[in-house]
Amino acid sequence: MSVAEHVNLDEFMSGVKRRNPGQPEFVQAVQEVSEDIFEFIQDKLPYHEYQILRRIAEPDRVVSFRVCWEDDNGNIRVQRGWRVQNNSAIGPYKGGLRFHRDVTESVLKFLAFEQTFKNSLTGLPMGGGKGGSNFNPKGKSDHEVMRFCQSFMTELYRHVGADIDVPAGDIGVGAREIGYMFGQYKRITNQFTGVLTGKGLEYGGSLIRTEATGYGATYFLQNMLQHVGDSIDGKSVVISGSGNVATHAAEKVTHLGGKVLTLSDSGGFIYDPAGIDQEKIDWVKEHKTTRRGRIADYAGEFAGSEFHTDKRPWGVPCDLAMPCATQNELDGDDARTLLKNGCIGVSEGANMPTNLEGVHLFKEAQILYGPGKAANAGGVAVSGLEMSQNSARISWKEAELQKLLVDIMGGIHDRCVEYGGVAGTEHIDYVRGANIAGFVKVADAMLAYGVV
Ligand code: NDP
Repeated sequence: MSVAEHVNLDEFMSGVKRRNPGQPEFVQAVQEVSEDIFEFIQDKLPYHEYQILRRIAEPDRVVSFRVCWEDDNGNIRVQRGWRVQNNSAIGPYKGGLRFHRDVTESVLKFLAFEQTFKNSLTGLPMGGGKGGSNFNPKGKSDHEVMRFCQSFMTELYRHVGADIDVPAGDIGVGAREIGYMFGQYKRITNQFTGVLTGKGLEYGGSLIRTEATGYGATYFLQNMLQHVGDSIDGKSVVISGSGNVATHAAEKVTHLGGKVLTLSDSGGFIYDPAGIDQEKIDWVKEHKTTRRGRIADYAGEFAGSEFHTDKRPWGVPCDLAMPCATQNELDGDDARTLLKNGCIGVSEGANMPTNLEGVHLFKEAQILYGPGKAANAGGVAVSGLEMSQNSARISWKEAELQKLLVDIMGGIHDRCVEYGGVAGTEHIDYVRGANIAGFVKVADAMLAYGVV
């Protein structure tokens, strides 16, 4: 059979849609990757014969389970939990846990699929997984969150392990939740192993894990700018979100001389024309984590700033944009607005924050566009370093880890450049570069294993 007979993106995608009904986020993620991979594998017969892309787009397994817990009023509550183990060709499954009202199997399958390419791009030996629950942590007491986390881990512990699958945090899962889940895992199994990352420093966590995703996304932006002889210094930056990734991206942008104009949450965004400096970022961190407050309160705290209810920040003119909240938070109209206002670079701290139309517009405009699977890989990379420290029972120093993060983000940038060059131009298509570089390593390992 000729290679051409194997190659048909439309047929492939109609199969993906047919096999995954009601899973739009998963289909979107597979489509975005497949557009680049199909072109790349045109003349590479083994990838077709061994159905490599089809196999990566079919998770190794999806575990779904019931999570019962009791709220503070004595009511029995029932949630659904999942772990999606997408691919372990190059290492144990690795990827975060998300607790959010809107979590579905489709969302977790898209995240686990993306994670497979992202983890490969880091150069570390980690497969791709993701999990979570439709539990909504907002407004819950500490004890309710603890009871939920314990119940969740009481099922999850069967499916994870330091050499099997190592979850971490994501939306709604931070140090508090990881602590409760690690405590329960240890209690059930009587083992102190590196089964989760993002742990507290007192019990096996790594320095700079908290900062790593936001810092890494900013280093990636800086790397893209440096590649064209520019830098973040003096640039205005619009950021969405106000959680872990957004606040640390804002911090690193500020360190590098940029001016952060916005932050947001699910209630709207704040615009501060004077710039969100370190003191204001510290206030946001404290307000959103310790006080579990809303970003709207920023406007009452800092004179001259404005809160825009139920709006996204992409209409604020800027040089650079960093979506750091959630998936599909930047659509085609937002992309057009950013381009019209002269935005020259986008680095995605969140996973798949730009919808397919927006991705196509950024690619066509040939701006510096760093997709999440490359730009936000700093978090999982430092999680990989946490796993190494746990296995060796040592703790590396902060300066050492900071340097490793810079080096890893530089390596990811270089791998994107290697595969993302656009013929006849100096431009780098970072989406294509990330997709292909992430694919090749996983695909070659799968070829080595034969049909398993
Ligand atoms: P957090 O829970 O710390 O913060 C999430 C932020 O996004 C909050 O400001 C939240 O607002 C906002 N948000 C959530 N859902 C929506 C929505 N539907 N509309 C608007 N805003 C929303 O999560 P993280 O910062 O950890 O994660 C943010 C993104 O980064 C996610 O896409 C995640 O997958 C990705 N990521 C995270 C990594 C990590 O290390 N933490 C690693 C790699 C990627 P509110 O408070 O109102 O809910």
